[in-house]
Amino acid sequence: MLKTLLDRLRPATPVRIDDQMWRETLTSLPFLLRLDEGERQQLRSLAQQFLAEKEMAAAGDLQLTAAMQVSIAAQACLPVLRLGLDGYRGWTSIVVYPDEFLVPREVTDEAGVVHEYVEPIAGEAWDGGPLLLSWADAQSGHPDANVVIHEFTHKLDMANGDADGIPPFDRRLHPALSARRWRQALSDAFERLNAELDLIEAEIPPDIDPESPQADPYFARLPLDAYAATDPGEFFAVSSEAFFVAPQRLRDAFPDWYGLLAEFFLQDPLAMAKA
Ligand SMILES: [Zn+2]
Repeated sequence: MLKTLLDRLRPATPVRIDDQMWRETLTSLPFLLRLDEGERQQLRSLAQQFLAEKEMAAAGDLQLTAAMQVSIAAQACLPVLRLGLDGYRGWTSIVVYPDEFLVPREVTDEAGVVHEYVEPIAGEAWDGGPLLLSWADAQSGHPDANVVIHEFTHKLDMANGDADGIPPFDRRLHPALSARRWRQALSDAFERLNAELDLIEAEIPPDIDPESPQADPYFARLPLDAYAATDPGEFFAVSSEAFFVAPQRLRDAFPDWYGLLAEFFLQDPLAMAKA
C-alpha cells in the first residue's frame, strides 16, 4: 500500500522564506494574526528549521510551490511554537496531494468477513511514517477546522506511542501536567460530546439521512465537529484545531479541557487575541 501511494512522488525543491513570502503566508492564515511580532519571528524561524528538517513531496499532478510549503510549515509549527520541533522527531516525509486522496482500507465485520474499500480523506498521519495532506483542504478555507493542525497534533500524540489523545509531557515545560489529570479532563469532555451527539442523533427525523447535508444543521449545534466523538485521539486532534483556529466556542463548551490544552501548548489563543 505504501508503495502504490508513494511511488509517483516528486521531491519538492528546498525553500528559504523571504520577507515577502512570509508576509503573504501570514495574510493568508487569519488565525496567525493574533500573534505578536516576537511570536511571528519565532514562528518564522521554526518554519525555516522545519523546512530544512522535513522532506516534502508532491503527489499526483500537484505543482508544490515554495509558497505552499511555507504555508504548510507555518501551520504545522503553530502548535509547537513554544514546544519546539522535538515533538515532530522520528519521521521526515510530508506528502502533499492536490485534493482529497483515496486510501485503501480493510475492516473485519462481526462475522469475521474482511471488507476492502477505499476512503477519500483530506489528511492522515502514519505512526513513524509520512504525514499525508490534501492541499485543497490545507488552505484554511474553513473558519473552524484546520487539517494541517489536525494531522500534526496526531504526530505530537504519537510521539509516545498510539494516537490515544495523550501526548508526552515534558517535565521542564509541563511541571503541573500529569497523564492522570489529562486523561480525566479528556474523558469528561469526550463523554459529554458523545452524550450531546447521541441526543442530536435521536432528534434527526427518520426521513433525513444522518450522512446527508440535510443533517448538517443538527450536527452544527455540537460545540466541536462530530468527528471528535470517534475516539479520544480524534477528540484531541479536533479540539486542537478548534483551540488554534476558533478557540472561543471550545473554551465556552469545555473550559477545563481548554485550560489543559493551553497548559500543554504553552499558548492561550484567547489571551493572546488582539482587541
Ligand atoms: Zn484524525
